[in-house]
Amino acid sequence: MPNSVLSTNKQATMDTYARFPLTLVKGQGSYVWDNEGNKYLDFSTGIATCNLGHVPSYVKEKVEQQLQELWHCSNLYHIPSQEKLAQKLVAHSFAERVFFSNSGAEANEGAIKLARRYAQKVKGSNAYEVVTFKQSFHGRTLATLSATGQEKIQDGFSPLMPGFRYLPYNDIKALDELVTDHTCAVLLELVQGEGGVYTADLEWIQQLEKLCKENHILLMIDEIQTGMGRTGTLFAYEQFGITPDVITLAKGLGSGFPLGAILASEEVAKGFSPGSHGSTFGGNPLATTAGLATLEYMVEQNIAQKAQEAGAYLKEKLLKLQESFPVIKEIRGKGLLLGLVFEDQVLELVTKARENKLLIVTAGPNVLRILPPLTVSKEEIDACIAVLTKGLEAYQPK
Ligand SMILES: *Cc1c(COP(=O)(O)O)cnc(C)c1O
Repeated sequence: MPNSVLSTNKQATMDTYARFPLTLVKGQGSYVWDNEGNKYLDFSTGIATCNLGHVPSYVKEKVEQQLQELWHCSNLYHIPSQEKLAQKLVAHSFAERVFFSNSGAEANEGAIKLARRYAQKVKGSNAYEVVTFKQSFHGRTLATLSATGQEKIQDGFSPLMPGFRYLPYNDIKALDELVTDHTCAVLLELVQGEGGVYTADLEWIQQLEKLCKENHILLMIDEIQTGMGRTGTLFAYEQFGITPDVITLAKGLGSGFPLGAILASEEVAKGFSPGSHGSTFGGNPLATTAGLATLEYMVEQNIAQKAQEAGAYLKEKLLKLQESFPVIKEIRGKGLLLGLVFEDQVLELVTKARENKLLIVTAGPNVLRILPPLTVSKEEIDACIAVLTKGLEAYQPK
């Protein structure tokens, strides 16, 4: 398989990824090209990151302008693109204050710090515990992997960071155990992306919100994968009739530029004061220029609505596919974050799709995850279904 980088040299990057035998060198819209000139339909979007497709021209122009002006300056100075992006995020969400990071894990790490510090410095309580859920995914730093409810992510990294407790997802009965004297916050995804594309039940999440409000526990939603239009609204929480205290963003926020964010209410943001949190690169001029252009384009073009329509069309086609191929047990997810659930392993289907020039990913061993750009066309969805059909015809479950 094509891999010119490795043809002569020993691999120098660490073995942290089971990489596919594919080297991507160019992208445009819903397509990417490999180093041999083959064109692929990309329904993985760098894992829910290139929500406007690859190299979106509006964002590209703004970043090109910024490249001529200033790449980086410290957060010791005012950064216009950072402040504008914060104001725009505030205008389109529950939030009143924003902190920028470079990644999703850092955004969650900061949210955990904010929850603890709000409890201890603003409320004067000694609560520190953050409740999270089984199958969740919150990142790879020591605190965020400790927050993650999956043993395989934590394997070999003990001792874990103390102060987390995991409850079963979508289990109303288990909410009886939510509140203790030590609990300061709850952190969860509304669609568990990495953990198998499980969507929160409406009744469960509303019950959870009620418990949080009654007991002054912060409701923190990890929207790193569900945010930026992915589930059919700019943020997924809008579809659940809840008002969070904190949300975290990353993936789609910068259209591929490393950028994350913590969004909080005015009250909760009091948890941070000058000197209590920071980042050298977080919110730098280049990244926030990409973020601002991404959000401007999303709002002006109503991309979330497009994602909702494309998601409905894709789901309808997938349900038809399920009729023809009962090996598909279930179709889960929201908008353009969809999972096809099988009884058996699905890696073979990912490989087959790649051979037929379609890129998709998994969410655990037996779930195919389909993450098109939100700008995807019906024709591109039809092309995806055709490739999936071919793969399913040859599928040998094991
Ligand atoms: C990807 C992801 C993260 C981690 O983001 P990184 O940018 O890889 O650190 C955290 N939470 C969720 C829900 C994610 O999908």
